[in-house]
Amino acid sequence: MCDVVKDLKSDLFYEKVNGLKKDTVDFGTVDAFCKGYIDFLGKAKTERLATKEAIALAEAAGFREFSEDEKYVAGDKIYFNNRNKSLGLVVIGSEPVEKGVRIAAAHIDSPRIDLKPNPLYEDKELALFKTHYYGGIKKYQWTAIPLALHGVFCKKDGTTVEVAIGEEPDEPVFVITDLLPHLAQEQVKRPASELIRGEELNVLIGSMPFKADEGSELVKLNIMKILNEKYGIVEEDFLSAELECVPAGKPRDVGFDRSLIGSYGHDDRVCAYPCLMASFAVTAPKFTTVSILADKEETGSDGNTGMQSAFLQYLIEDLARMQGGNGYRALRNSKCLSADVNAAFDPTYPDVMEKRNASEINYGAVITKYTGSRGKGGTSDASAEFVGWIRKILNERNVTWQTGELGKVDLGGGGTVAKYIANLGVDVVDLGVPVLSMHAPFEVVSKFDVYMTYLAIKALFEAE
Ligand code: MN
Ligand code: MN
Repeated sequence: MCDVVKDLKSDLFYEKVNGLKKDTVDFGTVDAFCKGYIDFLGKAKTERLATKEAIALAEAAGFREFSEDEKYVAGDKIYFNNRNKSLGLVVIGSEPVEKGVRIAAAHIDSPRIDLKPNPLYEDKELALFKTHYYGGIKKYQWTAIPLALHGVFCKKDGTTVEVAIGEEPDEPVFVITDLLPHLAQEQVKRPASELIRGEELNVLIGSMPFKADEGSELVKLNIMKILNEKYGIVEEDFLSAELECVPAGKPRDVGFDRSLIGSYGHDDRVCAYPCLMASFAVTAPKFTTVSILADKEETGSDGNTGMQSAFLQYLIEDLARMQGGNGYRALRNSKCLSADVNAAFDPTYPDVMEKRNASEINYGAVITKYTGSRGKGGTSDASAEFVGWIRKILNERNVTWQTGELGKVDLGGGGTVAKYIANLGVDVVDLGVPVLSMHAPFEVVSKFDVYMTYLAIKALFEAE
């Protein structure tokens, strides 16, 4: 190629570069950051546990729970706990809140298998739980894998008892059984969406009968006796419980080169952790920083712990009013990164992606200008001006980033919390980590992309 063409191309063409081919960051730094993430992710198996773990980390980093009686000044670190399932972390800036805040919003709920209100039954002398899956899953992926059980019983005496069983090596696990191939001739003819049906997601929890000469449901009775001894509950207490089955076990390095992390629940704790760490990294921000860890994204962001609730709006109103300002002005002037994952290009399934606009592993944090589906339906579609500003602050700080769309036009699509924040008058765009096998019991991300997402959120918090 002649030099003129080469020079012109390098001047004029946009070229994506694999971040690991550049020497912008030492992989040791990336790996050290991800060790913290792996530790967090291994504990944050549900929205409640993610909140609990985030609060513990925040308190260790000097954050204190918000109090209406306090007067906060620049540099103060506060957290807002929304019903133990969603969290806001604030670092007060030197500028008035009315001048706008910098928001990073991720979600901490992940697809899983919830227990029904009346879950426990016995059939053919086996004890099982009836379930109702949560979020978008391929149901067949959730059979024949070890499951842990997490959640709470709110007992009739008003006390709450936490349940956590199946994560430690010496603890039992649970499992949704599947048919053996020998007897699955009819099952495998079902379409994949029905290969396992919702009402077939029954969790096996025991088989030992209570020793008695007569009586029915003795296996169930024995299970209730164990639960009563361990948690002090009776069967009616299931009616006021939230119990979630999630894949058992800890995150693991993936690959000979250990460049990837495999785990349950990357979506979206892989963005929640960078939000947390960016909040901890800012000390004296000009603009007040807010990290929101939301619940219920996987089911549409409804409910009082989801992003469609007034939690964020009122949090900002509280901060503005404390300074004698107005929340709506603060929101109007605010900037937000909706930190959520996107689908990484998978070479085994190239047909669903449009190559020029798909995010790729190790190409950094992925900016998703719009989500939605079928003609951008249901997206907030970030403005060119705001994307331009984000692009500038990322480039100035050497943050490796790329753009992505969720699959081919009219094929894929999806949503994040971005539009609910945009509806408050905030400038917002999606930015996050590309994921392989999204919503599977074992999702995969690249360590480099996780670290770049952290740097991107930190850039939002620090930029003037
Ligand atoms: Mn997500
Ligand atoms: Mn998701």
